[in-house]
Amino acid sequence: MIVHPELRRAARHARRPLLAATLLQGAVTLTHLAQAVLLALALAGLARGGTGQLPWLLAAVLAVVAARAALALWQRRTATRAGARVRVALRDELLARLGRLGPAYLTTARAGAVRTTLVDGVEGVDAYVSRYLPQLLVTLSVPPLVLAVLAVVEPRALVGLVPALLLALLGPRAWDRLLAARGKEHWDTYEGLGADYLEALQGMPALRAAGAVGRTRARLEERSAALHRATVAKLRVSLADTGITDLAIQGGTAAAALLACWSAITGSTTAAGTYLVLLLASECFRPIRDHAREWHAGYLGVSAADGLEALRTSVPAVPDTATASAHRHTPPELVFHHVRFTYDGAPAPALDGVSFTARAGRTTAIVGPSGAGKSTLLALLLRHHDPQKGRITLDGRPTTEYALDSLRQGIAVVSQETYLFHASIADNLRLARPDATDDELTRAARAAGIHDEITALPDGYATLLGERGATLSGGQRQRLALARALLSDAPVLVLDEATSSVDERREADIVRELLKAVGGRTVLVVAHRLAAVRSADRIVVLDAGRVDAVGDHTGLVEAGGVYTRLVEAGRAHRGELAA
Ligand code: ADP
Repeated sequence: MIVHPELRRAARHARRPLLAATLLQGAVTLTHLAQAVLLALALAGLARGGTGQLPWLLAAVLAVVAARAALALWQRRTATRAGARVRVALRDELLARLGRLGPAYLTTARAGAVRTTLVDGVEGVDAYVSRYLPQLLVTLSVPPLVLAVLAVVEPRALVGLVPALLLALLGPRAWDRLLAARGKEHWDTYEGLGADYLEALQGMPALRAAGAVGRTRARLEERSAALHRATVAKLRVSLADTGITDLAIQGGTAAAALLACWSAITGSTTAAGTYLVLLLASECFRPIRDHAREWHAGYLGVSAADGLEALRTSVPAVPDTATASAHRHTPPELVFHHVRFTYDGAPAPALDGVSFTARAGRTTAIVGPSGAGKSTLLALLLRHHDPQKGRITLDGRPTTEYALDSLRQGIAVVSQETYLFHASIADNLRLARPDATDDELTRAARAAGIHDEITALPDGYATLLGERGATLSGGQRQRLALARALLSDAPVLVLDEATSSVDERREADIVRELLKAVGGRTVLVVAHRLAAVRSADRIVVLDAGRVDAVGDHTGLVEAGGVYTRLVEAGRAHRGELAA
């Protein structure tokens, strides 16, 4: 019955409405008690043969029933509102946290599992906080009150009731440990299944291509079966749990009835007292029955609490304590000073002593074979990680001195993985700058070479994109992402193998066009294929985490080395394709 700290924390988002919901829940319970008392008086009157008060008592019972209906409605509304507030606040907080954790977190946590926590877990917390918690408080306060009343009317009734109450409340606790273990098992399986399905959906093209659809289906079936087993295992425990509660409730009520009859026979209580004992004894257990019901409704929240806590408290890979603003209108100079970075647990550094300068307002290309460290370099620039040695400066200032949000807003990235949202093209573009005018939209789209294709679509800029922008070709999606980056007024632009879905000649054209369009920005182009970087002002050649050479295309080709090998490899590759 100890409330998980994470759930207590969640409840604090809606303290007042929750308090109101609890008080209303208490009021609803009181109407049950009032009804029991009124009925006991009416029955005692009948037993005595006096019917004078009967109409009044029955009218009062009806009034109480009506009041309860109104109170219950009010209570449910208040509780729903409180729950909604908790849900919204929690999701908000978790999303903000995810934003701060950045993509580095999602490379270790599975996106599907995070989704399950954010959606189903938070729903469970809502049920727990808005329905179970108020009921818990009522359950803890009402039965003692009833017992106190009964102690005055007929103390002997307590002999049957108190043990039954204790058993009903504490009996299930004996199973708590087991239930918690089974609940966790169930939740983990559930999370895993969610993650598997998401991956299967997103990876469908890859699975198809590999002919692995059948195998994946079999694995998902196995996972579903595991979830079924976990559900049944949990259910079995909670059934045992409910069984004990029910047994205690029935036994307690029966014992109270027997005691009431006995006291009636021995004449130690009045008729009203006997009826009161009979009716109140069963009221004593009502909160406990409700409690058991709400417990099951809110149980998902308990299972999800650990996942929520893990997400809420995960520490970003880099601290965000600096406050300088990276916002400026002139393009900055970007310098890597002897940067060294090793991934956790990796045997060798991914970058070792990397130094180069990307001059302000110019285009610097980063090339190198796969595994050379290009992506790592970008991750360090965006501060998804910090280097262990050396530093990266923007306008002479280490990137660690800028506020994280400001730094990242100042660097627009167009990557291989463009994400377009299920919204209109215009909305997707305006992500970069919500207040951009239509004119600015078309200018950016023109510069990215996508304007004509957009206007050729039936709805133009209002065309709705499917999830992940499925209705556009790969090249179109990338150019749309480019337009989005151009629209943001970020003074640094990173093209991360930006045009890889396009053929090589086209790619070179696009990059050339683009470099004309991005005037006034410091540009980093990270590319595998070299046709695209020929026009860069300066090319940095990375190899095995070190800078192999820096220069322009002609100079690098003359010097031989890694760059020449890359150029030759590119030619061989094209030859192969042509053959
Ligand atoms: P590139 O982008 O040039 O292909 P990367 O920056 O991705 O190269 O990788 C550089 C090196 O760091 C490689 O040896 C790679 O195996 C390693 N590496 C990349 N990401 C991780 C990671 N998350 N954990 C451990 N090692 C990594």
